[in-house]
Amino acid sequence: MEIEILSLFPEYFQGPFDVSMIKRARDAGHLDIRHTDIRDFAENKHARVDDRPFGGGPGMVLCPGPVARAIRSVRKPNSRVVYLSPQGTPLTAAKAQGFAKLEHLVLLCGHYEGVDERVLEKEIDEEISIGDYVLTNGCAAAIVLIDSMARFIPGVIGHPDAVQEDSFQEGVFDSPHYTRPESFEGMDVPAVLLGGNHAEIRKWRKAEALKKTRRVRPDLLLGEHCEPLTIH
Ligand code: SAM
Repeated sequence: MEIEILSLFPEYFQGPFDVSMIKRARDAGHLDIRHTDIRDFAENKHARVDDRPFGGGPGMVLCPGPVARAIRSVRKPNSRVVYLSPQGTPLTAAKAQGFAKLEHLVLLCGHYEGVDERVLEKEIDEEISIGDYVLTNGCAAAIVLIDSMARFIPGVIGHPDAVQEDSFQEGVFDSPHYTRPESFEGMDVPAVLLGGNHAEIRKWRKAEALKKTRRVRPDLLLGEHCEPLTIH
């Protein structure tokens, strides 16, 4: 899968994509992440890409010209162009899984007050938000989108079952995990996990997952993947 990140700060991405699973995915050829600096598409000698908002108000707005030229420089017939924006559709595991099926994803990271609306109307297929809060720019949001999506690309996670058992896949959280030692500062691993009865372990994990989901995110239990809660 090819990903193009259009931003004002290509250097922002040094680090997150150079460690752990994303690095391995890149090294193995599952992911090809490229960067485009929107400033390279300015047409003035100071490489200025922002201006004051029409109608007044605080802050600056990214001008449509450089953004449109940057997008057009990377767009292919099979591209999906996504603008990271607090006003977008919320990023969910299901959305991330959908993105993982794409061949060419273009991510536009905004800055300042945002991007001139006309270029969004003309060039963007979809706006995606990573949460109901406002970041200073879209780079961190692009990293979150790529990381959440990469896990669904076949071969990126060594054990495919691991993804299937993660939170949200079945509409609820993952179950709690324990490892050695069996006793830690007076707290013992639940006995059922040590008994070797796999049917009992499955039942216990499901119940624990539902219990925490109901406590922390009852809204998830109204989703279509999950029957109304029956565990008490
Ligand atoms: N004035 C805009 C608004 O209130 O909707 C916020 C602009 S924000 C300061 C600058 C940039 O950060 C945006 O253009 C967007 O690319 C990015 N951004 C901020 N919050 C985000 C979020 N929750 N999800 C995705 N991108 C976000």
